[in-house]
Amino acid sequence: MNTGQQTCIAAPLVVQSRRQIELAGAELTTLLRGRVRVGEPMARHTTFRIGGAADLFVQPHDEEDLATTLRFARDKGFPCKVIGNGSNLLVSDGGIRGVVVRLAPRLADVEWLEDGAHVGAGARLATLVKQACEVGLSGLESTVGIPGTLGGALATNAGTDTGSIGDLVVGATVLDHDGELRQWTAEQFAYRYRHSNLGSSRATVIRAHLKLEPAAKDDVLAKVDRLRQKRSGRQPLRAWSAGSVFKNPRAVAAGKVLDRAGAKGHRVDDAEVSRKHANFLINRGHATAAAMRELIAWAHDLGLARYGIDLELEIELIGER
Ligand SMILES: Cc1cc2nc3c(=O)[nH]c(=O)nc-3n(C[C@H](O)[C@H](O)[C@H](O)COP(=O)(O)OP(=O)(O)OC[C@H]3O[C@@H](n4cnc5c(N)ncnc54)[C@H](O)[C@@H]3O)c2cc1C
Repeated sequence: MNTGQQTCIAAPLVVQSRRQIELAGAELTTLLRGRVRVGEPMARHTTFRIGGAADLFVQPHDEEDLATTLRFARDKGFPCKVIGNGSNLLVSDGGIRGVVVRLAPRLADVEWLEDGAHVGAGARLATLVKQACEVGLSGLESTVGIPGTLGGALATNAGTDTGSIGDLVVGATVLDHDGELRQWTAEQFAYRYRHSNLGSSRATVIRAHLKLEPAAKDDVLAKVDRLRQKRSGRQPLRAWSAGSVFKNPRAVAAGKVLDRAGAKGHRVDDAEVSRKHANFLINRGHATAAAMRELIAWAHDLGLARYGIDLELEIELIGER
């Protein structure tokens, strides 16, 4: 199963004491315009509403803050993880050692072009979809209902059966693992189904150039409304979840496999397989990461035992266990 990636400048792993973390937090605070918190519960920053504390949690105010934070983490020997809206993450109950850098809601500037947009990595997809309707540009409809940021979407190649974000990428500005600003072409992301090589390259996207098609505003809006309705009829979008837990195998949807195997409604404490969509595992209120992991393992083994299908994780498991 996917155990998570570090999206940051490379740093040797050094165990930090509580005192060192507090001192580092105080020092980082003096270097940034943005916020630094010590021991921030990650449950506040994930759509699962699950996850223990991050040693240091940073919300950079701008690109300069981001670059300073990444360099600081490297120099101090802190591991570092950049996140967007935490909508594809299951953070362990033990939390995350090192620095978590949350881009949203900053670094979210958007410049609309006649046939595309330059978009900051912290911009929410929902905002982009809404604005694209207003300016009459088509393409982003494939991301309707995905509660992530552009950065998270570019890392996971987020999308639906109507297309993926990778289809729209012309290029991007990234902070490379060595802390240098670089321009990436679309090819460098090596996009495939729910995968890019951003994580393995440890680069952080700052902004991207997307190509979109000029279209009648009413047509784009109608398509967005249609897709939104379709989703809300089939998926538990109001529940605390991270969307689809497993990737769809080639021949059949993961949700169908689990539904036919009778997974709906199965629970481990407050973690439950949604009764609306079997590939959505939901937190009913007080689910721990341990309970959610146990439910994930149960669902995985069920698919294997009933149909011989080895479901692959779509969500990312991160943090100390
Ligand atoms: C109700 C619901 C429905 C969903 N439906 C869909 C769907 O239809 N299709 C789909 O694909 N997904 C879906 N998801 C999953 C999730 O929303 C997407 O994967 C989304 O793109 C993640 O974006 P994020 O900003 O939340 O990223 P996060 O979850 O915060 O991070 C995901 C990954 O991206 C990396 N990352 C984030 N920002 C950057 C950056 N700037 N540079 C480099 N790496 C970065 C992180 O390190 C992490 O590895 C759904 C989730 C929910 C809760």
